[in-house]
Amino acid sequence: MKIRRIVVTGGAGFLGSHLCDRLVASGHDVICVDNFFTSQKNNIAHLLGRPNFELIRHDITHPLWLEVDEIYNLACPAAPGHYQYNPIKTMKTSVMGAINLLGMARRCRAKILQASTSEVYGDPEVHPQVESYRGNVNPIGPRACYDEGKRAAETLFFDYQRMNKLNIRVVRIFNTYGPRMHPFDGRVVSNFIRQALAGNDISIFGDGAQTRSFCYVDDLVDGLIAMMNGPDDFHGPVNLGNPNEMSIKLLAETIIRMTASRSKLVQRPLPADDPTQRRPDITLAKAKLGWEPSVNLDSGLSKTIEYFRGIDLDQFRAPTPNF
Ligand code: NAD
Ligand code: UDP
Repeated sequence: MKIRRIVVTGGAGFLGSHLCDRLVASGHDVICVDNFFTSQKNNIAHLLGRPNFELIRHDITHPLWLEVDEIYNLACPAAPGHYQYNPIKTMKTSVMGAINLLGMARRCRAKILQASTSEVYGDPEVHPQVESYRGNVNPIGPRACYDEGKRAAETLFFDYQRMNKLNIRVVRIFNTYGPRMHPFDGRVVSNFIRQALAGNDISIFGDGAQTRSFCYVDDLVDGLIAMMNGPDDFHGPVNLGNPNEMSIKLLAETIIRMTASRSKLVQRPLPADDPTQRRPDITLAKAKLGWEPSVNLDSGLSKTIEYFRGIDLDQFRAPTPNF
């Protein structure tokens, strides 16, 4: 194997830290770039002594000068409460961050992968979502800073590819869960597990009939690496996610069962523009990358619950008050 120098922005985050683990274990020279807005050093503390791992505290809205072969751009707050906390900063992270990293890729002739999102489909009218669907996003709503920021980043990636022949890859990630989700990120899996383990009420937003499809982090990391190493003429966008769709109410009941919790389900107001349904069509990923998820929900949730049982919540600082 040829050792490559690889930068992972957002490398201390939930997905980024698992990606760094895999790339370091494969022997690559890995540079993790993060401003620690929604993460903490403990996600990557175990890598700090490794000779092929480096950490740079940096905000990607500012230019960065590195010599690298590959760039995975994952830096961006991903949980609704956190990306809505400072929506202007969220948009800057997506757009100015993409410009800065695409500039680096152009200068180094590096391959560059963008972590886009199923949110580019908004509240989808096409179900399951195929990559050719152009989406139903409210451009002026509270989620727009994230959705439109990610859409603009996709635009920049494809314009750099057309103008500068950059070797780009765009993946649209669907809801992913697993160990190292921040306990105060406010996302549904982490909220429900934290609430169930504490015996607190489980907060169902709306009636819980809205659906999501949950992918375990190891499968997702396989998909990111498969896309980076995939055919050079395949730029995406490609959906990465697990098509196993379920209602939020069923997820809550499953977590209560698996934690043997006595928590009760309680309804809370449904946030504005919350998508009513979401499920990836992964035909393209299967055909082009030979990728599909293999971890089922029960086994993924058990590992996640075990992680949450093992952490001390006092060691975590809430990134924003919105969780
Ligand atoms: P996360 O919040 O755990 O990780 C994001 C990381 O980016 C954090 O470490 C954060 O500190 C860092 N960051 C944020 N703004 C930054 C900036 N301006 N400069 C440098 N670092 C910055 O979230 P995650 O779930 O690991 O998401 C990683 C990426 O994947 C994000 O781009 C997200 O949009 C995308 N994504 C994730 C999911 C999912 O379900 N987890 C779904 C769709 C897309
Ligand atoms: N949700 C919920 N209770 C919570 C957190 C989230 O019912 O405590 C719902 C939320 O309204 C949404 C779904 O779960 O319909 C997934 O929310 P999350 O924030 O995890 O991700 P996203 O909305 O970005 O898919």
